[in-house]
Amino acid sequence: MNKRYKILFEPVDIGPVTAKNRFYQVPHAMGAGNDMPQTRAAQRGIKAEGGWGVINTGYCSIHPSSDDRPLPFARIWTDEDIPAHEIMVKAVHEHDALAGIELFHGGAYTPNRHSRLTSFSPSGVQPRPPELDTMSIASPKVMDNQDIKNLIQWHIDATKRSLKAGFDIIYCYAGMGFLPYHFLHPDFNKRTDGYGGSLENRARLITEIISAMKETAEGKAAIAVRISTDELLKFKSEHAESEAHELFEMIGELPDLWDLKLSQWTKECPAGRFAESGHMRPYNSFAKALTTKPVVGVGWFTSPDIMVKQINDGVLDFVGAARASIADPFLPNKLKEGREDDIRECIGCNICASCYNGGIPVRCTQNPTMGEEWRRGWHPEKHKAKTSDSRILIIGGGPAGLEAATTLSKRGYQITIAEKKEQLGGRINNESILPGMSSYQRVIDYRLGQINQSDRVETFLSNELKKQDVLDLGFDHVVTATGSKWNLSLLNEKLTPFNIGKMSNVVTPDDIFKGAEIQDEILIYDFDFYYMGGLLAEYLTNQGKNVSIISPFPNISPWSFMSNELNEIALRLHEKNIETSKEEIIQNIETGHVITKNLVSDEMRETNFETLIIVGNRIPHRELYDELMSEDTLGDHGIKSVNNIGDSNAPGAVVHAIYSGHLYANTFDDDSHVNDLKFEYTSIQ
Ligand code: ADP
Ligand code: SF4
Repeated sequence: MNKRYKILFEPVDIGPVTAKNRFYQVPHAMGAGNDMPQTRAAQRGIKAEGGWGVINTGYCSIHPSSDDRPLPFARIWTDEDIPAHEIMVKAVHEHDALAGIELFHGGAYTPNRHSRLTSFSPSGVQPRPPELDTMSIASPKVMDNQDIKNLIQWHIDATKRSLKAGFDIIYCYAGMGFLPYHFLHPDFNKRTDGYGGSLENRARLITEIISAMKETAEGKAAIAVRISTDELLKFKSEHAESEAHELFEMIGELPDLWDLKLSQWTKECPAGRFAESGHMRPYNSFAKALTTKPVVGVGWFTSPDIMVKQINDGVLDFVGAARASIADPFLPNKLKEGREDDIRECIGCNICASCYNGGIPVRCTQNPTMGEEWRRGWHPEKHKAKTSDSRILIIGGGPAGLEAATTLSKRGYQITIAEKKEQLGGRINNESILPGMSSYQRVIDYRLGQINQSDRVETFLSNELKKQDVLDLGFDHVVTATGSKWNLSLLNEKLTPFNIGKMSNVVTPDDIFKGAEIQDEILIYDFDFYYMGGLLAEYLTNQGKNVSIISPFPNISPWSFMSNELNEIALRLHEKNIETSKEEIIQNIETGHVITKNLVSDEMRETNFETLIIVGNRIPHRELYDELMSEDTLGDHGIKSVNNIGDSNAPGAVVHAIYSGHLYANTFDDDSHVNDLKFEYTSIQ
């Protein structure tokens, strides 16, 4: 181990329990909830196997009055929920890690659409968070004394169940917009009884909850508090620097651990484009001076050096991570073994976050095995051995081809990559030059790093293969990973694309990346759902161009709501003075202007341009694959199979290409592609 990382491997006491190191997987929802307990246990267990000292559940509801459906929350409502947690605890304990559970009552934040119980709040104030689509249209009820007693009792009951399940750390969740946090927050707590008014009164509820949980735990488990600090740090206090300081002066010693976070998930977990590693430091750094209890915080820690710095600077005791543990469950073990070059560094794409928002188990661009540990039996570091001495030709060295080559070579196969360009990397070489996108290069860096350590991968650059070349080369198996291209197309009124021919001054993103000559007045017609339109607008504005965007959607990059990027993209376009016209389609392109139609009002208008960039749909480069598949003599040339993967099969995000490459590599020599996909069913007794 590099000795500068030694500090990360020191054990730390958390009340009655001890974490073996400072690698702390903070509570993060992983999309499995209680409906997929085996998926959840296998995913958390792999992180424990990879060396994380503490592994937590995601948010775990303590009562049906905190029902977050359709989002995939965990629950511990009755004793019947205990076995689902026990299997996770067992998977974590098997690797000598501590297991934590994040007990949660969402209060006014949970819509209770399924349980149909009335939501609770300190004073009946209805929150208006950015995630409006999951909110209730009903106001919450004002809690009376009996409701408060019940809430404390539910925490006690859930603590007892958590102890039965074997958890070592049990949380009270006083963060985001959830119920204990709303009691602390003067905008939501307007009570005039002993639970409202002064901070001392507003903190009474969490004080009572923590005390009751500690009494219940009887030293058999640590009691942790997760709290949002950003707003409390802004609230003025008569007695201290801020209400956050005052609160810590009051109850800093009460729990066994403090876990610090922000009050909005989209701000705390921004895409890497909009944040720097360690970005939470301003909200975390006040705490350690005010408590002797261990402090954990997050902040997109991808590099071990930044982790070490936060410990050495006395900001944190534990390095909190969700994404770093998703991208590389084996990060701690790799550091311990001095293998930091083997770490799969998170790229900050937030595909993982999009899965929670979409209610499905977490998936990751960098780590294609994430969420597949139980269902397919995939492991991020262990690969099943080859079943033959077959030689495999991979045509195309983008994310799909490189992932296939990496995994196949680890399985023991002999691989040849042929790449048309002078450089491996495919689309990443283009996209990573766009503002804030350099971290995407890590997709390629990791895979090249692995391939370069292997003597089983040969690479031929500047090598565009045609059908006859492939036949002549006579490999056992051929994989086309030849990518896709942006298409010149427009949308009809049903918003389906139709091709248009080449026109002067009308280009695609591919043309921009190839260095096409463009003028100063640029119009982008963006009907892609994801990041490309906004990124190109920003990129070209930075070069002094005057850019505006037309989109048929109510927002630019509408899918990026899923990846927590939507608001940041809108802000960035606003800051750069990029004019956006929404809910409009281009009906005609004429010399120097377009005719657009507003989809709401049917109004037509003209917009001038010097260069029009169409960011529309992508079409696969599948010509080579199709030619090979229509060839009768494959067998005569010794070719046993031809497969098409990644964008040349179905254009998607980088996560899809990586998954496609991994799926091929893991399953091409058996039929597990189809048959090994297991589902979790609830048994009826
Ligand atoms: P994906 O995301 O599916 O990996 P990319 O577009 O990123 O797709 O990468 C595809 C790669 O395939 C590009 O680097 C491209 O240059 C290469 N390529 C395309 N056609 C050929 C070919 N006939 N021979 C060799 N390489 C090719
Ligand atoms: Fe990081 Fe993207 Fe993986 Fe999430 S999906 S852990 S942001 S690489």
